Amino acid sequence: MTVRIRSALDTLPAYAPGRSVPGAIKLASNELAFPTLPAVAQAIADAAVHESSGINRYPDNGAARLVTALAALTGAPESHIVTGCGSVALCQQLVQATAEAGDEVLFGWRSFEAYPIVTQITGATAVRVPVTAGHELDLAAMADAITPATRLIFICTPNNPTGTTVRAADLIAFLDRVPEHVLVTIDEAYTEFDDADDSPDGLAEATSRPNVVTLRTLSKAYGLAGLRVGYAVADPAVVTALRKVAIPFALNSLAQAAALAALGARAELAPRWQQVVAERTRVHAALRELGYEVPVSRANFVWLPLRERSAEFAAHSEQHKVIVRAFADASGGVRVSIGAPHENDAFLAAAAAFPR
Ligand SMILES: *Cc1c(COP(=O)(O)O)cnc(C)c1O
Repeated sequence: MTVRIRSALDTLPAYAPGRSVPGAIKLASNELAFPTLPAVAQAIADAAVHESSGINRYPDNGAARLVTALAALTGAPESHIVTGCGSVALCQQLVQATAEAGDEVLFGWRSFEAYPIVTQITGATAVRVPVTAGHELDLAAMADAITPATRLIFICTPNNPTGTTVRAADLIAFLDRVPEHVLVTIDEAYTEFDDADDSPDGLAEATSRPNVVTLRTLSKAYGLAGLRVGYAVADPAVVTALRKVAIPFALNSLAQAAALAALGARAELAPRWQQVVAERTRVHAALRELGYEVPVSRANFVWLPLRERSAEFAAHSEQHKVIVRAFADASGGVRVSIGAPHENDAFLAAAAAFPR
């Protein structure tokens, strides 16, 4: 006898993690290419053996100290903040909290590859609205795509994988068009690298509009991808719903300790973010010089809309010992994370050698 698995999972695209190839440079998962800060490593070591909250104990389910620190950072009241096992877990919780079979979850495409997966897991329907020719989210078309079945909308800015941002005025006009019962998620996973001067203030929207939630993560700018810490800022009613569908104790005690230490080390991290932005600007200019189409990115990666040549480019880069992320389909391209300067040089050498 064969175990019965829900049919909603049959056509589910299995999540493809960024590949690691021994000896190769990994520019596939938008990680921060700097060593862990000593203060963060120390906090993790201390938490492991802490007298009253060491790893023989369950972690604080509400992550109270971390929530207090996040309230100080964001200016949002503690009642508006909830942590998650990476912000991708919060994406899944948002769908679970709002949508079921027959309901629609709306997002741009391309956008974060987890959105269709977490949507399909619940049995809800994913509605993809194509990005513009300039690889930007098409907010007007997204507003037009709202139906009576729409329950949740993801707006990723800067958008993974295209790197583009939405403008504040456009987002506000969009939010004004969304019915009050539809939840809008502003996914700001890359906000620390966003140097556009007209980007929206997702935190302000999330604290003033009951149907807006803003997601942030410590995986990218804070260098904690391996520990899985994300958070949401939202109306307390949404926070309560997110807690109801959370896996108990999802944020482990080492992650909580590391996150607190990393938030306390912003002064040491900010120069790293500036270096990523400077390298991104350099890589972008070099690729344009080589003749590639590259939209302006405000994140820690660049997007090459190579379409049907995406897989070929990724294989070529791998031969040059550089692992990039290819999305090989009709709207496809290659996403390349910004690494250390010598890593970016290796990627640019591979890009220069790609036959065009
Ligand atoms: C990386 C990423 C996340 C979440 O990452 P976590 O590691 O789960 O916190 C969320 N949204 C986007 C768009 C991302 O690129």
